[in-house]
Amino acid sequence: MATNLQTPIDYLKGVGPNRADLLRKELGIHTYQDLINLFPNRYLDRTQYYKINQLNANTAEVQVIGKITGFKEIAQKRGKRLVANFQDETGSMELVWFRGQKWIKEGLKVNVPYVIFGKVSVFGGKFNMAHPDTELLVEHQQNLRSSMQPIYPSTEKLSNKGITNRIMTKIMQNLFLETGGKFAETLPENMREELKLVSKSKALFNVHFPVDSASLFKAQFRLKFEELFYIQLQLILKNLIHKSKIKGFPFEKVGPYFNTFFKAHLPFELTGAQKRVLKEIRQDLGNNAQMNRLLQGDVGSGKTIVALMSMLIALDNGFQACLMAPTEILSVQHYNGLKALCNDLDINIKLLTGSSKTSERRKIHDMLENGELDILIGTHALIEDKVKFKNLGLAIIDEQHRFGVKQRSKLWKKNSLPPHVLVMTATPIPRTLAMSVYGDLDISIIDELPPGRKAIKTVHRYDSNRLKVFRFIRDEIAKKRQIYIVYPLIQESAQMDYKDLMDGYESISREFPMPEYQISIVHGKMKPADKAFEMQRFIKGETQIMVATTVIEVGVNVPNASVMIIESAERFGLSQLHQLRGRVGRGAEQSYCILMTSHKLSENSKTRLQTMVSTNDGFEIAEVDLRLRGPGDIMGTQQSGVLNLRIADIIKDNDILKLARQHAKLLLEKDPSLGHAENAVVLETYRQMGKYKNIWNYIS
Ligand code: ADP
Ligand code: MG
Repeated sequence: MATNLQTPIDYLKGVGPNRADLLRKELGIHTYQDLINLFPNRYLDRTQYYKINQLNANTAEVQVIGKITGFKEIAQKRGKRLVANFQDETGSMELVWFRGQKWIKEGLKVNVPYVIFGKVSVFGGKFNMAHPDTELLVEHQQNLRSSMQPIYPSTEKLSNKGITNRIMTKIMQNLFLETGGKFAETLPENMREELKLVSKSKALFNVHFPVDSASLFKAQFRLKFEELFYIQLQLILKNLIHKSKIKGFPFEKVGPYFNTFFKAHLPFELTGAQKRVLKEIRQDLGNNAQMNRLLQGDVGSGKTIVALMSMLIALDNGFQACLMAPTEILSVQHYNGLKALCNDLDINIKLLTGSSKTSERRKIHDMLENGELDILIGTHALIEDKVKFKNLGLAIIDEQHRFGVKQRSKLWKKNSLPPHVLVMTATPIPRTLAMSVYGDLDISIIDELPPGRKAIKTVHRYDSNRLKVFRFIRDEIAKKRQIYIVYPLIQESAQMDYKDLMDGYESISREFPMPEYQISIVHGKMKPADKAFEMQRFIKGETQIMVATTVIEVGVNVPNASVMIIESAERFGLSQLHQLRGRVGRGAEQSYCILMTSHKLSENSKTRLQTMVSTNDGFEIAEVDLRLRGPGDIMGTQQSGVLNLRIADIIKDNDILKLARQHAKLLLEKDPSLGHAENAVVLETYRQMGKYKNIWNYIS
């Protein structure tokens, strides 16, 4: 009978209660199944031996053949350490033990050949190896050596307690002996044939005990594919369930609002990407499932018009729509922009923010409830309990990163059915990541900028070149352009950051004196009304320079501004730099972005600056960002669960990810309920993935 892989790890030969406890606590290994899924981090060549005179401080783990010539005990702050002199024909080195000295000394023989294995470091001018694996050469020669010795993930505690890599390998061997190396297949036969995937048993064997790199590669490929396949299957199923479970209002027609606007008031020809995205949205809205779509488009790609036209479809079907933005400034800008666009349409649009007056607020509440108001634009104020729509059909959220999931779902509660939801973001999410994390959302991408835009020229300048930069600013202002100068504000409260800002403001005021020059300043500590006042002066062109913290990051649209200067640019993340740069290049003029830094730059900062200088493509930048920061950091911890991969790497294994997604999709298209006989293993495996049980319950 096959061994039950859910057997607790305690029962495995060589484990026992103490080790079981450690494995559980340190590596989360509870069962045989968990152990078999503990994949090696890397593989070492154990057919290669080093001579002592070949060692250098950068050598990773090595094995050396030699003899121990003697021991000494050296007292140290706490206790003592055991040091052995170890030599071969080329030189000598030290082996060091900080724990377990008694039995180590008793267990090791002097002047007998050993093979030692471990990490080399330098101490007191001498090479040493702490807590090496030791094996008598005669015994060593009896074992088959592989050029690929698996190295398992470990922790300090595990190695302190003597669970070395050799022990892990031994335990793994025991598991294979006990189970006969036979493991249930988890992918359908036809898929394995088509993709030439090795069987599960073979893959597991070869990943733990590879004989050559070709078989290791095949094993890894199969296991990575499987891992990504089941994640994609889960995400796609979630999306399908959402669509079949969560009903929405079907917007069946496109009526006079949309058509009139399209024919008579569209201020420019839509780009191909805008048209395609609108079509995707229209299709969603026409279904009776609730739309849940993410609209990605770089800054300036023209998402606003897409938002408006989607809202017009809602209006054509007798519904209201709302647009929520993360800041007051951005809401006002959206409001003014949209109002201007719909000037000639018979539409009621209002703005609701934290600073709306009580009387205005009341009026808006009434108009919303009796249906007089068609479109409401605003900040978080939109999701206050007092705000009740008569029939909200479409909710658009700009800049998803700034809203929590909870806040978003508040909008839903106002209706018998949830409104359709369109989330717009200008922070491109790398496709790879979008596929893994948002695989359950529908995604539309505007990947084309409106025609006639000149690419922004980006340069990196050191603080020591400031005078040249000032001269450049002066020339641009003489051409009637406007300038942004942005200071980092990492923490709203950081006094240091304000000091930088104020110092900067002063030096710029000296360099660009009134009355010839007018300067606006905006930062997070100002009252909203003061902020708005200063912004307005800049928007109207009354001031030529805007000194600001990152509050301007999102959304300000001043087409005449052609220079973005970012101070201490090394302190900003890539996506933030890209967002800031997007504030310029909105008009017909050539625009510039100048990244100012000190001379002291980390490698990581250098990469960020170089990336900014070399490309304007938000998706490309997002990919670099992903590589620099890793997926967890980008998505926030709550979503990174999907990214806890055992063997695949969403960056390096991108091609496998695509393949897995494609096959998961295909399989679900043919067999949405996983009822076909050939997919029985998929159903079974899916059910076994205890973690995803809650989702499964929906459909079974
Ligand atoms: P974002 O995607 O950053 O929100 P906006 O919607 O604010 O971009 O659009 C940026 C600018 O481009 C606006 O001034 C808008 O009027 C203009 N624009 C949008 N679409 C087009 C188009 N198809 N042709 C020309 N200009 C466009
Ligand atoms: Mg926008």
